[in-house]
Amino acid sequence: MTINWTGFSKKTPSERQTLLSELLSDDKQELLTSNQQLSIETANQMAEHVLGTFSLPFSVAPDFLIDGKTYHIPMVTEEPSVVAAASFAAKLIKRSGGFTTTIHNRLMIGQVALYDIKDKKIAEQAILSHKAQLLSQADQAHPSIVKRGGGARDIWTEEKGDFLILYLSVDTQEAMGANMLNTMLEALVPTLEELTDGQSLMAILSNYATESLVTAECRVDLRFLSRDKAEAQQLAQKMELASQLAQVDPYRAATHNKGIFNGIDAIVLATGNDWRAIEAAGHSFANQSGNYRGLSTWHYDKEAQQVAGKLTMPMPIATKGGSIGLNPTVQVAHDLLGNPTAKELASIIVSVGLAQNFAALKALIGTGIQAGHMKLQAKSLLLLAGATESEVTALLPKLLQEKHRNQETAQELLMALRNNKNE
Ligand code: NDP
Repeated sequence: MTINWTGFSKKTPSERQTLLSELLSDDKQELLTSNQQLSIETANQMAEHVLGTFSLPFSVAPDFLIDGKTYHIPMVTEEPSVVAAASFAAKLIKRSGGFTTTIHNRLMIGQVALYDIKDKKIAEQAILSHKAQLLSQADQAHPSIVKRGGGARDIWTEEKGDFLILYLSVDTQEAMGANMLNTMLEALVPTLEELTDGQSLMAILSNYATESLVTAECRVDLRFLSRDKAEAQQLAQKMELASQLAQVDPYRAATHNKGIFNGIDAIVLATGNDWRAIEAAGHSFANQSGNYRGLSTWHYDKEAQQVAGKLTMPMPIATKGGSIGLNPTVQVAHDLLGNPTAKELASIIVSVGLAQNFAALKALIGTGIQAGHMKLQAKSLLLLAGATESEVTALLPKLLQEKHRNQETAQELLMALRNNKNE
């Protein structure tokens, strides 16, 4: 499907939907605009003490070329400029060859923390000599995942402080697997207590998903950093420096990674996944060396006259389970992406994170982040002051010229416009 994206940002939501009509059926388009995506009855089943539902903008960042395939990315975010930045980066990266990704593995890890053990060495031996039995017991606790081709894969132990910890890795197929693992781990507790003559403190999935690593890589031709060759080379050097800064300074690394999650959270939310789990996995992985670091790196390849970016992080994402089947809008997101598998979705999400990171770094080392944000912030101020869409269009240039762009000025401008109309 070839789409002409020219002027996409200037179109109305319904014009954008029409452009994507091959991917979005009529009923899905209607769902997006009807404001009735999640029924109160379903919402009341999903969480407790429900009063109503809560809406956020559902956007699309078009034309990501990932492993030779084009994807239009559903993004749910309230933050201005995130979707525009991702779309801009995707365009430049596509023209430079697109993203390539590697799925290193896709297993979820859970743990049983045992304590009150007299001899941890003997206990450890007892567990490891019963490994096959324990793996089979885990499978028996959740037979449906075995039927689907997944199941328990490995068991290992570690002594940490007063604890002897058993780790279990499981192939959870298309699910994230938290409930699956928790069921399996709890089923192992009586046997483990018997084998170790100890007690279990807890049996639970770990969100430090080191067995679900995905790498996305991309390159950007220097001509897209600046038309001026010398300036482009200088910017490429600065991009490498910005990457190094995020490796040595946790204050910068936190913000560097927040930028990556601006993109990741938006697609994780749109696809109905547990974004707390993805955030926990990413941030704990960023700290794997003991120093919190930027998750991505950028390198200036002088020979190729390109900047090369790489992002490796855990992406324990699901296409089944949790609330994915419950929220109808989530299905719209999966349809828009062509209903990818969990592995494909993981590749897409990490690529979106890298694109977002590129856009943020390019802005930071170039004009600075505020230049791009100013217009969107001014727009938000006018909307907060109560301006309608046509009033925002009329007042935006005026507010941008004001020295003090704040809520008060936005309100004053709006009052003046309305008073003028009434005179
Ligand atoms: P579910 O309990 O929903 O289990 C996955 C479901 O997907 C099962 O019902 C399974 O069916 C179904 N399914 C259908 N097709 C497939 C397939 N091809 N592969 C795998 N499963 C399939 O969810 P999870 O166990 O994945 O747990 C995720 C949920 O747990 C999220 O809502 C998360 O928020 C929450 N959670 C997270 C925690 C954490 O992150 N620490 C802790 C506790 C909960 P069947 O049973 O027939 O196999």
